[in-house]
Amino acid sequence: MKQTADAIIIGTGVIGAAIAFELSRLGYRTLSLDRNTQAGHGSTAGSCACIRMHYSTFDGTALAWEGYHYWRDWAEYLNAKSDSQLSRFVETGCLVMKTKQNGYLEKHVQYSTALNCPFEQWSAEEIVKRMPIYDLQSFAPARKPDDALFCQPNGGRLSGGVYWPNAGYVTDPALSAQNLCDAATRAGARFRMGAEIVGILMDSGKVSGVRLASGESLSAPVVINVAGPASSRINAMAGVLDDMTITTRALRQEVVHVPAPEGFNFEKDGMMVSDSDIALYCRPEHGNHILIGSEDPECDTHDWVDDDQKYNREFTDQWTTQAMRFGQRVPSLGIPQTSRGIVDLYDASTDWIPIYDKSCLPGFYMACGTSGNQYKNAPIAGKMMAALIDYCESGNDQDMTPLQFELPYTGQHVSTGFYSRKRPINTESSFSVVG
Ligand SMILES: Cc1cc2nc3c(=O)[nH]c(=O)nc-3n(C[C@H](O)[C@H](O)[C@H](O)COP(=O)(O)OP(=O)(O)OC[C@H]3O[C@@H](n4cnc5c(N)ncnc54)[C@H](O)[C@@H]3O)c2cc1C
Repeated sequence: MKQTADAIIIGTGVIGAAIAFELSRLGYRTLSLDRNTQAGHGSTAGSCACIRMHYSTFDGTALAWEGYHYWRDWAEYLNAKSDSQLSRFVETGCLVMKTKQNGYLEKHVQYSTALNCPFEQWSAEEIVKRMPIYDLQSFAPARKPDDALFCQPNGGRLSGGVYWPNAGYVTDPALSAQNLCDAATRAGARFRMGAEIVGILMDSGKVSGVRLASGESLSAPVVINVAGPASSRINAMAGVLDDMTITTRALRQEVVHVPAPEGFNFEKDGMMVSDSDIALYCRPEHGNHILIGSEDPECDTHDWVDDDQKYNREFTDQWTTQAMRFGQRVPSLGIPQTSRGIVDLYDASTDWIPIYDKSCLPGFYMACGTSGNQYKNAPIAGKMMAALIDYCESGNDQDMTPLQFELPYTGQHVSTGFYSRKRPINTESSFSVVG
């Protein structure tokens, strides 16, 4: 077999595309493959694309704060021409309610302070001044509609929150993946769409390429699994699951879009809000809508999916439950008869922290388990993966001596071992989309 590329990248979502860009910049001849016909049309297209800084671990916060800068400087990062059609970052800020569930944000504030990531303490009065549609009665814990206490206040009130002014969202996540592919192409990367991988090829104990559904084989000494919710299937094809302590699994999610209450311009005056008291996050959506996602409360059953191409794409009662939970906080909210929003899949990892790592098969790498919270990190994850691959391909032992990586904007040093497939389950995690 003739060598097709230095590295084959499976997937052209936002993270796969970022890896293609960054590896090409390092001089690797990359070939990206995707079964879809357009880049970014896997789970990236369904992403809420929230860019926020509060994470439950120091490393998670450091990566997210670093990640923000790429969205802020998007055109410059891509080295894009001035007439390019680019996705847009809208810097709304993110308010996070202080709750018992998040330890009243004590560690989040500590991490942001250590990282020089700006934040403001907001009193309950300040929150209502900024968001007059908000009612700060407490409703925790989140309940199911068949619970007699569903939507009943518990007698307490929220005392305040922390506002991260640099947070926001990206307007068109699929376009952002396309922007990365265009940048990668300019750096020499190649892309082939409509190519489904059905097998991982091996030779002399190393990865040697991929087999496509068409029967064609493509060879490369490096193959990278960035298949999103299909990651565990690809890892199974490569036979690399056995030495992993952290595994990945596709998890179905519903995201609600509802019109903002009359008289409040949520698109202009609203912001991203993470509210663990009602187990939801929200952000402005175009057309003065509010996008509402779940923060995965314990009472909701996880809807695991075995086949990431065959799952229920229709809304269920979960849509109404999320809309009603949001109505607890915004009593003037009208809930339309027709459900609008998104149904898509997370690639959830055991501890809701991603895997950015090598595998036990030499030459086979993975960037997966992104758990509904890694869109924001795509550019820096791309950079870190490219550095990690180069480190391993240069003969270093990532498992024994993980690459120490400097985050270019913030100057912070992180150990890539934090994202190891073999790490112990990280008990600092929120075990939810919050990461
Ligand atoms: C509903 C939802 C909301 C989210 N909200 C946020 C958010 O607000 N903020 C945030 O930071 N993150 C968020 N995320 C997470 C974020 O969107 C993902 O982490 C990110 O998009 C993953 O990108 P990716 O490139 O790894 O995977 P994907 O975008 O899923 O791309 C994987 C690609 O691999 C291809 N593929 C799979 N199998 C094969 C095969 N056998 N052969 C060929 N190609 C294959 C697929 O076609 C797909 O294009 C959200 C995710 C979802 C689903």
